[in-house]
Amino acid sequence: MRELVCPRHMCKVPLGKCMEWDIDEVTGERIQCNEKPVMSTTLYWCKQCNVPIYEESCPLCGEKGKYIATDIRPVFPEEKILLAILLEKDDRKVTELLSDMEDKATAIAGAISKLQEILGGIEL
Ligand SMILES: [Zn+2]
Ligand SMILES: [Zn+2]
Repeated sequence: MRELVCPRHMCKVPLGKCMEWDIDEVTGERIQCNEKPVMSTTLYWCKQCNVPIYEESCPLCGEKGKYIATDIRPVFPEEKILLAILLEKDDRKVTELLSDMEDKATAIAGAISKLQEILGGIEL
């Protein structure tokens, strides 16, 4: 689950503005919370499909996922726009692609050094 939350009240702020009220320590007046919202990412795990999921119930099989962790960090304006665009998309694929590329790079580097080893042993 990816959503904006108020780090002070830990409440959801879908509109990007916390609707909670605080008492001003100095004046004792009621003031609306002006805390900057942060992006909260809650991860679940589907035992059925063996995949991490952002929603509590798996979009693949509908099974209720196991709670893993909640990550809360500041959200930058640019990121907010980007997230708004990407929110419906699954960025897991990007991460998978990147780690796949890394794996391939490691494999290629290994193959090259192996090849050099073999070639080095042959009198050319
Ligand atoms: Zn708040
Ligand atoms: Zn599933």
